[in-house]
Amino acid sequence: MSYSKPKFKEKYDNFINGKFVAPLEGAYFDNTSPIDNTLIAKYPRSQKEDVELAVNAANAAKEAWGNTSATHRATLLNKVADIIEANLEEFALVETCDNGKPIRETLNADIPLCVDHWRYFAACIRAEEGSATELDEHTLSMNIKEPLGVVGQIIPWNFPLLMLSWKLPPALATGNCVILKPAEQTPSTATLLMEKIAAVFPPGVINVIHGFGPEAGKPLASSSKIDKVAFTGETTTGQLIMQYASKNLNPVTMELGGKSPNIFFNSVMDEDDAFLDKAVEGAVMFAFNAGEVCTCPSRILVQEDIYDKFMERVIARTKAIVQDNPYDVNTMLGAQASNDQYEKIQSYFKIGKEEGAKVLAGGAAAKLTGEFANGFYIEPTLLEGHNKMRVFQEEIFGPVACVTKFKDEAEALEIANDTLYGLGAGVWTRDAHQLYQIPRAIKAGRVWVNCYHTYPAHAPFGGYKKSGFGRENHLMMMNHYRQTKNMLISY
Ligand code: NAD
Repeated sequence: MSYSKPKFKEKYDNFINGKFVAPLEGAYFDNTSPIDNTLIAKYPRSQKEDVELAVNAANAAKEAWGNTSATHRATLLNKVADIIEANLEEFALVETCDNGKPIRETLNADIPLCVDHWRYFAACIRAEEGSATELDEHTLSMNIKEPLGVVGQIIPWNFPLLMLSWKLPPALATGNCVILKPAEQTPSTATLLMEKIAAVFPPGVINVIHGFGPEAGKPLASSSKIDKVAFTGETTTGQLIMQYASKNLNPVTMELGGKSPNIFFNSVMDEDDAFLDKAVEGAVMFAFNAGEVCTCPSRILVQEDIYDKFMERVIARTKAIVQDNPYDVNTMLGAQASNDQYEKIQSYFKIGKEEGAKVLAGGAAAKLTGEFANGFYIEPTLLEGHNKMRVFQEEIFGPVACVTKFKDEAEALEIANDTLYGLGAGVWTRDAHQLYQIPRAIKAGRVWVNCYHTYPAHAPFGGYKKSGFGRENHLMMMNHYRQTKNMLISY
């Protein structure tokens, strides 16, 4: 079954104070689909003054919104979840068109997960009760959780609606007003959501500003009228945003890049074929969903005594990946999100070659025909080499997995942790000792064991080292968006 490109208006506007508002200078940029390099629509090229409008709207709304009950806020969050769920196919199609990832991913994973995140934080805020204890018979000690006020949120293009759905619900549930800046490459599903939920929240509670990082993101992160910046994106951008926020002593949360190891111990080769199939799938499919995932298992580490046999299976499976029309439900690998990404990935093929990495599969741009001939497609690629190479150390953010071998547990850990990043990791083994001890020794915020790429709303997610700090998801996330006031009341 195949879908086709969804319909769009000619242009869209920012969402400020409950209304769609044209950018003050009247400038728009073209947003194109990476699937076929055709125009989707025009979006506002917002500047400092547009950001200022949104920041003022959020400040005007914050007191009333911050004083609403948790029950009321939870009801509104659940309403958003219902609206996304009722329009699942539309959101999935728009996301696929904007980002290039196949419809089977957006329809079956990304958009349903969004629904769950809105519901999860609605449930968290309702389940949570304030605590009061007696210090002595005349003194009550109470902890009150207060919203921070106004929050700036800046998100990337790789999971447009999901990154929004990781960020907005906890901020809103805890009573904050938000200005969200989607990535300029993928503004469409955030806009579609605002169209559908325009009347759900009071004006000013959610504001969406489109535009480029230095023009719209920087004034938002630098604003002295906001109380926090939550950022997801590249490590180098995160460093800039911390500088901007530091001028106002604003707290930040940073969800940044990664170069995750996926480790395969020799016990995966045992007779039980079902487990081996799962491991091969774990090496291949999770690296090649365009590779545009911050936790992409982009370094495959295989124990040397099974290396040849295991890699034979991995190479065969990689070559069998169906890369085709992203609107077709059978397509496994779609387009890269932008021309910039497309070129960046190819530049790493050159770097890998110069470093002496061996191409085991792929290694070039993929040529699709017909209406997709101008899209940005890259072959699923396996590069063999060693961990000191740049292709093993730098975030390529494409369907490129770098493969190397290790002798024993100690060497596996040494290679796994020899990276600037610490976001995700995978461990595949049937050995009970390794099941627990290897994940314990890996310096990363999320370790999957005998699985990969599941992101339940209740599981805290975030980075060690240059992958950032702070956590997304889990009810602990709500504390990133509020202050605790202690009251000692004598009576
Ligand atoms: P990016 O840093 O280029 O852009 C992210 C956002 O920041 C965009 O909205 C962009 O407009 C904005 N921005 C850029 N420059 C800015 C500036 N000077 N001031 C303020 N805002 C600015 O990242 P990207 O290319 O969109 O996304 C890919 C990166 O995101 C990868 O490194 C990936 O690993 C990371 N990522 C991390 C997580 C996580 O949870 N850790 C999740 C998804 C993506």
